[in-house]
Amino acid sequence: MDVTGQRKEHVIIVGAGLGGLTAAIALLKQGFRVTVLEQAPVLGEVGAGVQLSSNATRVLALLGLEDVVEAYGAQPTGKEIRLWSTGRTWPLFDLGTASIERYGHPYAMFHRADLHKALATAVRDLAPYAVRLGSRCESMDTSGPKPQVVLAGGERIEGDLIVGADGVHSRVRHAIIGPDQPVFSGLHAWRGVIPTERLPQHLRRPVGVNWVGPGRHVIQYPLRRGELTNFVGIVEGSDWAVESWTQQGSIEDCLRDFQGWHEDVQTMIRSIETHFKWAFMVREPIGHWSSGCVTLLGDAAHPTLPFLAQGACMALEDGYVLARALVEHPGDVPAALAAYEAARVERTAKVVRGSNENATRFHNPKLADEQGATQYIDEQWADDKVRERYEWLFAYKVDEVPV
Ligand SMILES: Cc1cc2nc3c(=O)[nH]c(=O)nc-3n(C[C@H](O)[C@H](O)[C@H](O)COP(=O)(O)OP(=O)(O)OC[C@H]3O[C@@H](n4cnc5c(N)ncnc54)[C@H](O)[C@@H]3O)c2cc1C
Repeated sequence: MDVTGQRKEHVIIVGAGLGGLTAAIALLKQGFRVTVLEQAPVLGEVGAGVQLSSNATRVLALLGLEDVVEAYGAQPTGKEIRLWSTGRTWPLFDLGTASIERYGHPYAMFHRADLHKALATAVRDLAPYAVRLGSRCESMDTSGPKPQVVLAGGERIEGDLIVGADGVHSRVRHAIIGPDQPVFSGLHAWRGVIPTERLPQHLRRPVGVNWVGPGRHVIQYPLRRGELTNFVGIVEGSDWAVESWTQQGSIEDCLRDFQGWHEDVQTMIRSIETHFKWAFMVREPIGHWSSGCVTLLGDAAHPTLPFLAQGACMALEDGYVLARALVEHPGDVPAALAAYEAARVERTAKVVRGSNENATRFHNPKLADEQGATQYIDEQWADDKVRERYEWLFAYKVDEVPV
């Protein structure tokens, strides 16, 4: 670090998503020079929800952004399991003050655009010109002494470290690891946001709900202090394989996919403004995602199905741990990247595997009739099983993990 508090490394982050922006804030706060290259001509996020458990809201707090939860989040009192057919309800876990008492931080549910805007504002406050829009990374050149990002127009941008935070179709990953081999999961999701005032009173409670049923499930939770309700309906047995946030489907197709499901589910589907469709790809976790002075974070490093609601949480954790590793290994980027990977590979692979398992758990054929379902739910969502599946996630301390 020089006398002005500036560190000498210039970090280039490719992608201004939730992960790239969090990394930028963490690095800027540590005195690094940061440039974020974003392909989009304007900053923004899709109209959808994102849940952040205590392990990720801890990152926000450590970055001085705890107010974001109060300002934009919804803090549910708990999560519930509901049965697709009868609507019978089981508690899953308590949240609200219980999350704060147990883990020190809240469980919060955001509209992605709100969270993204808060992170982008924090980056701009620290470094007004750090984000370069309309800058699409086409490839990488790692042949010289310092790695370079090659932009779509041919311009080259050199850094001491390049971080690929460019999501599930990462160009940086392609350059340093090679093409990935996604396998279509046979699952697609319907996504939609509902103005909560359109819903009947009993669907406006401040809780998150996982509706489970044979071959499909629905996730429902409040956003933006409860003004909006997020709906995600996952359907098995699909041959529709487009992995995109912007693809739209029709209300008729969505209703058809949930034919026979409880009236509350039908009500939500009919209240959605636009019915978006997303196909899920499965990718095996990898053991390394760095090469020389280039690394990855978030979905670029460990894309996952969202059935533990942890993809964005992992991206936030990655950004914070990466900044800590660079501080702990001053002037030695490869050593910092080795420490960063060592801290993150096992945890993120466990998230990928746990998410795959939840797809099977949520869609089990035993859920078809009420008697079989009751036994299955009592067993699968027993307190000790729930603790085993979630405690290691929520209790993680991003500021204490050794790097
Ligand atoms: C239906 C669904 C529900 C989900 N729910 C949750 C949840 O509740 N909780 C949770 O934690 N996670 C959830 N996730 C996962 C979460 O959305 C992702 O894990 C998270 O967005 C990953 O963040 P990221 O920053 O790594 O990538 P992204 O959010 O994909 O951001 C990548 C950024 O890079 C930019 N970019 C891409 N290519 C280039 C390029 N070549 N050059 C320059 N810029 C580029 C993109 O424009 C974008 O801004 C969900 C995912 C889905 C599909």
